[in-house]
Amino acid sequence: MDLKEKCGLFAAYNGRTTSKDIYLGLYAQQHRGQESAGIVVSRGLGDYALHKDIGLVTNVFSEKLLHQLDGTFGIGHVRYSTSGSCAEKDIQPLVATHRGQIIAMAHNGNIVNALDLKEGLESDGSVFTTTSDSEVILHKIVRVRSDDPVEKICEGLRGVEGAYSLVFLFNDGVAAVRDPFGFRPLFLGRKDGSIFFASETCAFDILNAECVAEVSPGEGYFVGPKGLRRFQLPVPAVERMCSFETIYFSRPDSQFKNQAIHRYRIKLGEELAREHPVDADIVTGIPDSSNSASLGYSIASGIPLDIVLVRSHYTGRTFIAPYQSMRDLNVRKKINIISDSVLGKRVVVVDDSIVRGTTSRQIVKMFRDHGAAQVHLRIASPMVRHPCFFGIDMPDPDDFLANKAPADQLAGYLGVDSIGYLSVDALKRVVGDQTCMACFTGKYPVPVNGQSNCISKTAAAPESAPLEPEPV
Ligand code: SF4
Repeated sequence: MDLKEKCGLFAAYNGRTTSKDIYLGLYAQQHRGQESAGIVVSRGLGDYALHKDIGLVTNVFSEKLLHQLDGTFGIGHVRYSTSGSCAEKDIQPLVATHRGQIIAMAHNGNIVNALDLKEGLESDGSVFTTTSDSEVILHKIVRVRSDDPVEKICEGLRGVEGAYSLVFLFNDGVAAVRDPFGFRPLFLGRKDGSIFFASETCAFDILNAECVAEVSPGEGYFVGPKGLRRFQLPVPAVERMCSFETIYFSRPDSQFKNQAIHRYRIKLGEELAREHPVDADIVTGIPDSSNSASLGYSIASGIPLDIVLVRSHYTGRTFIAPYQSMRDLNVRKKINIISDSVLGKRVVVVDDSIVRGTTSRQIVKMFRDHGAAQVHLRIASPMVRHPCFFGIDMPDPDDFLANKAPADQLAGYLGVDSIGYLSVDALKRVVGDQTCMACFTGKYPVPVNGQSNCISKTAAAPESAPLEPEPV
């Protein structure tokens, strides 16, 4: 629960209320990015309207703005970014106009060879206006000498390595494409005469639209006046979708391979109970992302499930800490405990994942302070040991729990009576072995050169030396 997804995408074609459809599609995917939002729509004849800003979807767009943005097709983006140079100018969609052609794009993922590509493009005369790796793709596509959007995409993406689910707006339609590994999800939806693309199927549900298909790794679509055209990138596809989408990022009501994410998480919890059983009085999850896995643990273990922690959904980034001395306020502002549910009880606390462990320690302390007799922590994923280079914001590897305490001292470090992580094998049994698990195993599907999402920054290499525990 220490991780942040970078982005959510939505595209709509031939909707009479295009900007409103995109707004709703982004709203449903707000969990994929809460720092900025943007929509660009075509007004025909190479004209477009764009609005993007920092803030939640509901803050960035008003009814009046949506009215002004209306067109017959368009794309949208929600984004999480780090601060500073990766902020305002990097908000997507990115838009370029070239020889009368609009090319706008929105990206979910991370290009691992962005720095090399950028250097090559700059020495060829390109001028970059953002610090985002995504702009490299836009430059490469603009340079392709063809008016055919599909040729532009296929040629422009040659040599681009890493994770990219993309939606595009061209003069006469929208396109969507997924990298040959399919790191980030992408789906095709439909309602009446409209075609939609989205990062998650929950975006179709809010529109009462039907999910037609998952866009396969390396597959793309262009939809324009002649209808829907499918294409394939000219490189072999090897499916490696991010396993963290199933563990944590995607909404439980979204579908993946015709099954709700909620069902996968129940199975993760069931596997966890089989691998790490314990005698206890109740099972509970850390809301909201661990609810399904805790249900699975309860089903498989026979230990009753109880709701113990309550999450506030109204804390924003603008929260003011009135008392700086309250060290655990960051957790307490979000999560409170129902005391009489834990008093004198042996409790199994299920979390979807641990990266830093800082929040987990504070939550464990909450259980202790409210009289839990025992606290057993169960993690519905393997231990995170390696950084992600494919579009997930992770802390510096020095801050990973795996590097803070040796495995046999983890329970003591976190203040629990016992701790159990799901094995990589169990994760594979649930999500399949065609998924990326590099942050658990260190086996990256594509070579990584220490590059992060922001082409002005470089992520640190993983380290294994244990650090001193920090105070709770
Ligand atoms: S490294 Fe981890 S977070 Fe990144 S894509 Fe792979 S599984 Fe997902």
